[in-house]
Formats: sequence, C-alpha cells, structure tokens
Amino acid sequence: MKSIKRDLVIIGGGPAGLAAAVAAKEFGCPDVLLIERDRILGGILNQCIHDGFGLHRFEESLTGPEYAQRYIDEFNRLGVDAMMGTIVLSLDRERNLLVSSRKGFTKIEAGAIVLSMGCRERTAGAIQIPGTRPSGIYTAGAAQNFINLQNIMVGKQVVILGSGDIGMIMARRMTLEGAKVESVFEILPYAGGLARNIQQCLNDYDIPLHLSTSVIELHGKSRLSGVTVANMDENFLPLPGSERHIPCDTLLLSVGLIPENELSHRAHVTMAPATGGAGVDDIFMTSVPGIFSCGNVLHVHDLVDHVSEEAALAGQFAAQFLEGGIPSPDSHINIVPKQGVRYTLPQHVSGLRDFTLSLRVTEPLKDRAVWVRDGDRKVARKKMVRLHPAEMIRVKIKGEKLQNTRTLEVSVE
Ligand SMILES: Cc1cc2nc3c(=O)[nH]c(=O)nc-3n(C[C@H](O)[C@H](O)[C@H](O)COP(=O)(O)OP(=O)(O)OC[C@H]3O[C@@H](n4cnc5c(N)ncnc54)[C@H](O)[C@@H]3O)c2cc1C
Repeated sequence: MKSIKRDLVIIGGGPAGLAAAVAAKEFGCPDVLLIERDRILGGILNQCIHDGFGLHRFEESLTGPEYAQRYIDEFNRLGVDAMMGTIVLSLDRERNLLVSSRKGFTKIEAGAIVLSMGCRERTAGAIQIPGTRPSGIYTAGAAQNFINLQNIMVGKQVVILGSGDIGMIMARRMTLEGAKVESVFEILPYAGGLARNIQQCLNDYDIPLHLSTSVIELHGKSRLSGVTVANMDENFLPLPGSERHIPCDTLLLSVGLIPENELSHRAHVTMAPATGGAGVDDIFMTSVPGIFSCGNVLHVHDLVDHVSEEAALAGQFAAQFLEGGIPSPDSHINIVPKQGVRYTLPQHVSGLRDFTLSLRVTEPLKDRAVWVRDGDRKVARKKMVRLHPAEMIRVKIKGEKLQNTRTLEVSVE
C-alpha cells in the first residue's frame, strides 16, 4: 500500500473544506491536500440551485453552485492539491488516515487535519412512522438531488413532514415542477426553518403550514397512497379525534440533519452532545491536538456564509498550528449555556484572542437580550427583537475582557 506524508489534510470539499483550504494556503501553508469522496467540489451546494446564498459574504444573492464556484476558482488559482473520488475511511489520534480511491488504498500521515465532512439527513427509519413501507418516501435532500441533478421528478401529489429549510425549499421546488404540495406538517408549535423561507417558499405559493401536527401513519402497497396526520399535544402524542387522511403519492422528510462524525469518533475526539459535533476551542481545535473541525460537521448552520467564515478561521489556525505559532493557554475558560440557550460554540476558549460566540435559543422569543457573564460581571450583551431556534445568533467577544475569567455563562433574559 502506498504511504505518504502531508502537512495539512482537509477532509471534505464542501464550502467548509474549500474555505479552510483557501485560508490555509493564503496564510502561507505550502502543502495543503483536500480529500473529497465525490467527483466534484462544492458539497451539498451543487444541488441547491435556488438563490439566497452569499448575502452576507458577497452581499449578493447567489445560487449554491455560484457560491461554491467563487471558492473553487480561488482554490484553483492558489493551486491547492485535491484528491477527488477519494473517501477517508479511518483516522486516528496521531493524524494517520486511510483513504480509498479507484487507484487503491493510501496511508497518509498528516501534520494537521481539518474535519469538514458536512452532515446527512435523518431518514424515515430514524423517525419510525407506523404503517406500510411503500415507495414514494424520500428525504427532502434526496428528492432535491433527483430533481436538480438527475432530472428525475419524484412525485405528483406531495406531503412534507418537517418545516426545516430544506423541506420548505423543496415545497417550492416541487410546486415549480408542477406537483401539488398538499401541506407542510410540523410537530413543534413553531416552524423549524428561517422566516424568509416561510414567506418565500410557502406563503408565496399558498402552501399551508400546520404546526403541532405530524404524520402518524403511512398507507399504500407498492406506492404511497396517503398519510394519516393528527394534531399533537404538548407531549407530542396524537390528540384523539384529530386524525385525518391526506391522499398523496410522495412524502418528503425534512426532520433534521446529523453531522457526519464517524471519523471524529474514530480519532477519539471529545464530542458535544448538544451540537452532535466535536467540542472545540476558539481556534476550532478539537480535544485532539492538531485536529480541527468546522462547517456542518461541527454544528448545523442555517447560512453557508457563516460556514465559510468559521472554516476560514479553522484553516488559518491549522496552518498556524503547523508552524508551532499558537501559544497554549495555561487553562481554558469554559462556556456554559444557561437559561434559554440550547448550545454555545466554542465550548471553551483560551482568553488570548477575540472570538465570535455562536448560539441557538431553546424556543422562539421576542424582545430579549443575550447575556454573556463572568459571575456578576457583564462581558457582552446583545439586544434582539426576534430570537428563533432556527436562526443562529452570533456575539463578538473581546479577549481583553476575559482576564482572570474561569467560566462564561450565556443566557437569554
Ligand atoms: C437542501 C439544502 C438547502 C440549503 N439552502 C441554503 C440556503 O438557501 N442558504 C444558505 O446559506 N445555506 C443553505 N444550506 C446550507 C448550506 O448548504 C450548508 O450550510 C453548507 O453546505 C455546509 O457546508 P459543509 O462544507 O460543512 O458541508 P457539505 O456541503 O455537506 O460538504 C461536505 C463534503 O464532505 C464530503 N465528505 C464527507 N465525508 C467524507 C469522507 N469520509 N471522505 C471524503 N469526503 C467526505 C462530502 O462528499 C461533501 O462534499 C442548505 C443546505 C441544504 C442541505
């Protein structure tokens, strides 16, 4: 088996991997290798042919492929090395990788690694809806791939379960392709995706969104013929008497994303249960020295612009790590989510530099402030009119405010 040594290896060629590679190369890292299992760069953006990407990063509304192309052009201009059609099969704590391609297996010894493997969708199996097992049930992303990349229409009469962004985008896409989208059903009492997608993908096309409602049974033999839906109580149990039958030949599921962290587990990276990704510090380094993480594999983002921004920092810090240019802090400052906060990222920081704190709230709220405190001392406060679990909140924190700090508590009040 072939065996090679490389300085920086980036796993995954989506927007996170591309931004990390470009930033590392621009920082001056001479040897950057990106490994992508697909035959093209760009990751999930290749199938997102709707616009709305890049409003923050480029102040333009781009399609997914257009956004990706900006980074691919930069990647090519800088001459970054890529192994395409190559999957990383394993990774250990010493940063040894085993990769497989048509040419066979290769062992790679890396000086530093950036994990940017993205995430996959939760499937019908994961949510176990009772009933028959006919064809016609897809994850929203799989349907998007069939329609946008393979020119295959997946159905005519559609029900969508879950009001995440992908589900809403597919409600509009299916309508534009001539299907009848009956309704979007959401088990929670509030929508799972961005407000702009509720307006642009559902309201503008008269597609009803039913909250606190879920699919409780599937019907059909070889092909789906309908679903039973019911209103849900506060314990997510069907309310007796609220059941109704909706005829349909297609059910699209938009019921959550799972960060693809199998390699992180293999490398014994400490995980953060609240995000499903690695626990990281303010340089995006995991618990394993020299292994960094960014993008959707770290935590699920709503905007790709933020993926690129975080990943560029991860790539730059990984390049700095290779030079031995990152001073180790004497101790870490833990960041603890409190009232109203589902998770924070990073989970701990050095206090040596400024950083952006990302967080999500537990429920929709209005006219509140995000507080970041060291005991009774205010470190940062951000007033907000509208707070929603679907929208990541970002708060800039100054490193100079963290002298002698042991713990930062983050709450919404
Ligand atoms: C359907 C959909 C619609 C969206 N719409 C919007 C929108 O309108 N606006 C917006 O801003 N954002 C949107 N997003 C979000 C945005 O696309 C993501 O935040 C972004 O793509 C995440 O980037 P990533 O690089 O972390 O992951 P990905 O894009 O998923 O890339 C991960 C890459 O890693 C590769 N990989 C994984 N494992 C391995 C391995 N073991 N070996 C080699 N390669 C591997 C994969 O093949 C993939 O190419 C949407 C996302 C989806 C799914």
